[in-house]
Amino acid sequence: MKKKLLGLLAGVLAVMSMTGCGAVKYKVDADFGYKLDKDSYAAGEEVTAVYDMIGTDSDYTFYCENDDVSLKQEYDSKRGYVITFTMPAHDVKLGVKRRSSMEMDPDAIIPNPSDPPVTGFMPLGDIWTCPECNAAGNVGGYCSNCGAKKPE
Ligand SMILES: [Zn+2]
Repeated sequence: MKKKLLGLLAGVLAVMSMTGCGAVKYKVDADFGYKLDKDSYAAGEEVTAVYDMIGTDSDYTFYCENDDVSLKQEYDSKRGYVITFTMPAHDVKLGVKRRSSMEMDPDAIIPNPSDPPVTGFMPLGDIWTCPECNAAGNVGGYCSNCGAKKPE
């Protein structure tokens, strides 16, 4: 009686191991940034992908290139975006689209690093150094120090 039960149990285990290890697994090809708990999944298995490469100024769109897969998306403040779906009986391609949420302002003045620093002093004409007395910073037609005429 006991032997028969063990034999039955062994048979059940054999069938289970056959469906377990022998089951066809499918791959998830995910874009850079996704973290998957496994490399391959059996059909019907729940797949969890975590995306934690998040910039504060960007919006993310997570999508699957396979039409028969619908993604469920949640945001976990500790883990990042958690995307779950049920594995279909084929390979799956997961993608992510990143878009900056900061709108470009066409009127914004973009500082040119090659421009000289703005000091608040706007010269009206040429600044010249007097050849007679070496006084620098003359702006008019005559030297502010000695009154010599500006050289041509
Ligand atoms: Zn001078």
